[in-house]
Amino acid sequence: MFKINVFLAFFILISSLGFAQPATMQLKERGEVCLKMKHAEFQLIKDQIRLDISSVSTDSVEFYVDKNRYELVVKTMIPFRVLPLETLLVNEAKFDVQYLLSSDFSFYPTYEQYDSVMTILANMYPQFMQRQDLGTLPSGRKIIIWKMSKNISQDEPEPHILLTSTMHGNETTGAILMFKLAKYLIDNYGTDSLSTLLLDSNTIWINPFANPDGTYNGGNHTVAQAKRYNANNVDINRNFPDPDDGPHPDGNAYQPETVIFMDFANNYQFTLAANFHGGAEVFNYPWDTWSKLTADDDWWQKIGNQYATNCHNAANNSYFTFLGGVTNGYQWYEVTGGRQDYMNFWHNCREVTIELSNTKLLPENQFSTLWNYNKQALLDFLCATNQGLRGYVTDSVTGLPLKAKIELLNHDKDSSHVYTYMPHGNYYRMLDSGFYQVKYSASGYNAKVVDSVWVDSDAKTWLNIALSPKISGLENGIGLIDGFTVFPNPATDFVIIKPKTLVEKLQIQIYDASGKLVDTKWADRGGFYTIDVKNLESGVYMLKIFSACSSLEGAAKLLIER
Ligand SMILES: [Zn+2]
Repeated sequence: MFKINVFLAFFILISSLGFAQPATMQLKERGEVCLKMKHAEFQLIKDQIRLDISSVSTDSVEFYVDKNRYELVVKTMIPFRVLPLETLLVNEAKFDVQYLLSSDFSFYPTYEQYDSVMTILANMYPQFMQRQDLGTLPSGRKIIIWKMSKNISQDEPEPHILLTSTMHGNETTGAILMFKLAKYLIDNYGTDSLSTLLLDSNTIWINPFANPDGTYNGGNHTVAQAKRYNANNVDINRNFPDPDDGPHPDGNAYQPETVIFMDFANNYQFTLAANFHGGAEVFNYPWDTWSKLTADDDWWQKIGNQYATNCHNAANNSYFTFLGGVTNGYQWYEVTGGRQDYMNFWHNCREVTIELSNTKLLPENQFSTLWNYNKQALLDFLCATNQGLRGYVTDSVTGLPLKAKIELLNHDKDSSHVYTYMPHGNYYRMLDSGFYQVKYSASGYNAKVVDSVWVDSDAKTWLNIALSPKISGLENGIGLIDGFTVFPNPATDFVIIKPKTLVEKLQIQIYDASGKLVDTKWADRGGFYTIDVKNLESGVYMLKIFSACSSLEGAAKLLIER
């Protein structure tokens, strides 16, 4: 009885006063501490001190601070609670890498095992998997990613999907699910229709540990001391450029992890992405930084509800119930400098933040359960790239693929348009069902608008578009060059070459793109200066125009389109 009372007293002290000792210890050992404060009191200080919110519930807010900001919080005299560290249930036995693979990732790997597994699995399935190192941190630890697809060595025209986890180093559930998902896709290729479809028609990038310095804070052989921040005690998910608050919204330099990811995002185009976290169980879709909704809010709700429903079904409604399992990011709590908004705003990618478990540092005996809860949800989520509007944009003359912008008129806002991927000119736009007015544009080409395109959110809608090159001086199909009007341009059967002043006769020399003279024609006043061009193949031509009886002469580009 006495012991229990002492314990209770101790607990109450910690709970109500913000017991200094554990905070100091945590700050010393980990460089961070997680605090809990009542809503109303949090509001009083949130604008004075930058607090890295981890979770918000109906009555309180949990947030992380480093040592300096902890001291500022203490100075405010506002009561808070220091959250105890999550104790980790880990199997202490030392397993080798092969056992790790064969037991389907049923325990946390050491950093060395992680590094080895990323190589070994890729080597076991070279037709499906490649390991790539996105960068090395000052600590020597690497940001490692798997690239997965059928025909992995070929650059096929298909959507790219990015999955990364654990950028908050102590939110480890997602990393385990990444291993299990990768292995599941490979093991079930050819037998399970979804796995087959996903690997056949996408390139899927999987990065289990986005903040290995945080995860292996206690050393390479344990995740038990995993922490949220990186080695510099910076929250990486507050460190990206922000659509609302601009560069360096957290006041910190871009961290090595941030720079590595920004480089990666600049080198590839992702259609769909997910960023896995822990501390809650909810699908958090954009935006995080402002209250505005995205142009595709209906689509986000549909995808989010699908994810949540899959989780509810798999867990008999005992999981993913917070806020019904789906929330708009800002409505839950505002985040500035998050990667989700960065990817959506600057890379025209649909990235979501998925919070996988209330327990951040998931015990090993719960790995299988969490995988079973999320398996169908993850597979269906990835399938989103197989739906919506897609196609190719090409040059109408050469047939070559174009870097083009695809935007939905009277719909798009805040960078919700997409671009074609080079070198194939393919594009993907995931959408809720409806009629859309689609504009295709590319630098140096005449834009095209297609009205009333029906898109079924559960099916593929193909729309291939050829754009015609702009001719110099050409506006609205009429060229005004050196005193001549040349139209129509592009042309198919005939062209009218009208001089600014009346002349009797014009000689037109027609040169092809290589500069070779292919034809000479005459146009006269009686024939309204019309020439027949039916004999010319599709392509760009240079016309040299001479007046027979005056000094009038000029040159014009002519486009023949069939
Ligand atoms: Zn997180």
